[in-house]
Parts: sequence; C-alpha cells; structure tokens
Amino acid sequence: MPHTVDSRFVLPSGDLHQQGVYIIHFDEPLKGRARHYLGWSTDVGKRLARHKAGNGSRLMQVIKAAGIGWTLTGWWPGATYADEQQLKKQHNHERFCPFCGRKEEKHG
Ligand SMILES: [Zn+2]
Repeated sequence: MPHTVDSRFVLPSGDLHQQGVYIIHFDEPLKGRARHYLGWSTDVGKRLARHKAGNGSRLMQVIKAAGIGWTLTGWWPGATYADEQQLKKQHNHERFCPFCGRKEEKHG
C-alpha cells in the first residue's frame, strides 16, 4: 500500500499560503448535493479568498449564490493534486470533517 495522505490532516492554522488540499463544510446542505467541498490549490489561502468572493469553483459559486455560509474545517498541507484525487475517491468527506466527524450520525 502506498502512503496515504489522510494522516497529514490538520485543523486550519499556520500559513495557508502554500500548496495543499482543503475541506470546506457548508452551514447547510445544498439541495441534492454534498455538504462539503474538497479542493486542491498551490496557494490555499489565495483560493479561499476567491471562494469567499464566489469564485474558484463552480460549486462554491453556487453556494455563494444560494447564500449559504461555510467554514474551512481542515486541510492537508503540502498535499498534491494526486492526493486530492485519492481523497475524493473515498467519497466520505464527513469522516475528514471535524464538524461532522465528532457527531454521532443517526439514520432512520
Ligand atoms: Zn462537515
């Protein structure tokens, strides 16, 4: 098994102006879509500023237009685009998100 990126996850802190993968938690779920956005940038701080302005990704544009607030809940400093693809494939963003991961999810 190759080394996985999971273990590098940290809460948002330090200098965000470097390469990394980041996870954004939406204050409320967008109708029919995920509650998180997972992204990769060579300058996460810069990309987040673009998201705040409603740019940088189609989903974040839609979130802004819908008036839904969001929070950066964590990131993987130094993670690559390949790492992002690996994380996305797991389709389990809640597990990475500290806002969701601490809660006991009950269905039914
Ligand atoms: Zn979450």
